[in-house]
Amino acid sequence: MTQTGPHDLDYGFATRAVHAGQAPDPLSGAVMTPIYQTSTYAQEGLGRHKGFEYARTRNPTRDALERCVASLENGTHGFAFSSGLAALDAVLKLLRAGDHIVCGANVYGGSHRLIERIYTNFGLTVTFADMREIGNLERALTPATRLIFCETPTNPMMHVTDLAAVADLAQAHGYLCVVDNTFATPVFQRPLELGVDVVLHSTTKYLNGHSDMVGGMLVTRRDDLAERLGFIQNAAGAVPGPMDCWLALRGIKTLPLRMRQHDAAGRRIAEWLRGRPEVTQLYYPGFGGMISLDLGDVGRARRFAEATRIFTLAESLGGVESLIGHPASMTHASVPPAQRQAMGLTDSLIRLSCGIEEVDDLMADLDQAFAASLPD
Ligand SMILES: *Cc1c(COP(=O)(O)O)cnc(C)c1O
Repeated sequence: MTQTGPHDLDYGFATRAVHAGQAPDPLSGAVMTPIYQTSTYAQEGLGRHKGFEYARTRNPTRDALERCVASLENGTHGFAFSSGLAALDAVLKLLRAGDHIVCGANVYGGSHRLIERIYTNFGLTVTFADMREIGNLERALTPATRLIFCETPTNPMMHVTDLAAVADLAQAHGYLCVVDNTFATPVFQRPLELGVDVVLHSTTKYLNGHSDMVGGMLVTRRDDLAERLGFIQNAAGAVPGPMDCWLALRGIKTLPLRMRQHDAAGRRIAEWLRGRPEVTQLYYPGFGGMISLDLGDVGRARRFAEATRIFTLAESLGGVESLIGHPASMTHASVPPAQRQAMGLTDSLIRLSCGIEEVDDLMADLDQAFAASLPD
């Protein structure tokens, strides 16, 4: 369990992205947080140590990451996990058999799978609701509801939820409210400021931003939840190693700069796509680097995704490099087809993660892929 330093919130966002939770190493003065590649720590005597006993419980490199992300989300406690789904797994362990979850209808496929295919075996029940309309959420509530889990903007349909309204409703009834903020990042959206209890991240994506590690984070302002999440983090042990924490820390230093460029690229490319005759539906929330487009025909979508040269055909998102994906067969293959169709996630839908390359090169790449996608 890691609390942000009292000074951390006095600085602007970009300053905290570089410095929060990180002070020069007291041993050597190293300006960059060292990778404390150790599983254990020497104790001076029985019960006498420097606050570090065993690295599942605490590691100084992980401490720095937890403090940094907690600061950026304007929270007070951060917890790092070995993946975004491990972070969600820790949230679900706050519940007990018999508890009911209202989950966003279009959450990340792996989140859907973890809740529906694993936790229902342990007595949790779930209702999926399209949270664009608060009424849908209200209708899904039951006397057993304990958790509202929401993602906005959603992946890949870019549905946007009014988080303040969801948080108000959760607070009024005492439901736990958890938001997956992976897509927006704290640059564009800070759910804790709107009354949400816990923010979740896959740091694999924009926070790390370089597609070279897998990790997750939870951040809260509530001391009671922090105590329980810290207990679960240590008890279940899905913690990241120090090398991955260090990579995430390094990536986060440029988060504000990178998001500015992802956003600039996303806006320009979305605007350009809007005028393309090949695109039957465009999904763009108005900001950021994620765009989904429907090409209206499965064959055409496949040819398009296989023809790009800069946009790499791969799962994941949020890295400096541009990626192209086919949600129905890749990220969302674990969502039942009927449910995919119901939310508009067709087999001809393509998702773009716009990187920070030259935008003109990205548009030229998509242009030649459109040409290659046309039927012979
Ligand atoms: C990738 C992702 C996750 C899962 O994170 P992992 O690090 O892959 O476990 C959860 N939510 C969203 C929105 C994601 O994009």
